[in-house]
Amino acid sequence: MRPSMADPCPHISHAAFVEVYQLTDERKPDGRITGYTAELRIYCAACDEPFEFIGLPAGLSSSRPTADVPATTARLPIKPASAPANFGQGIPGFGIKFTGGDDLT
Ligand SMILES: [Zn+2]
Repeated sequence: MRPSMADPCPHISHAAFVEVYQLTDERKPDGRITGYTAELRIYCAACDEPFEFIGLPAGLSSSRPTADVPATTARLPIKPASAPANFGQGIPGFGIKFTGGDDLT
C-alpha cells in the first residue's frame, strides 16, 4: 500500500538489502580482488517507500561512504578485517557536486 496524505504510513517496519561487489583490476592478469564495496538499500516493509541516507556525498569512492544521486543507495567501501588498512584504496571513483537553485544554464 502506498502512503497517502489521508492515511500516511508510519514506517515502523523495514527491509534492508545489501549487495557486496568484488572489485578487480582488469590491467592485472591474475584477476586478484583489489577491493570490495557494499551497496545498502532500506525500504519500509509496509509501503515500500525507500529511505534516504542523510549526509552522504553523491558519487563513488574507494575510501569513504557515498550515495547515489537520489540518496537511496549507500555505497560503502569495505575490506576484510584482516586486510591492511589501505586495502582497496586508490580505485578511481567520482563525485557529484550539487550547486542548488534553478539556474542550470
Ligand atoms: Zn511505510
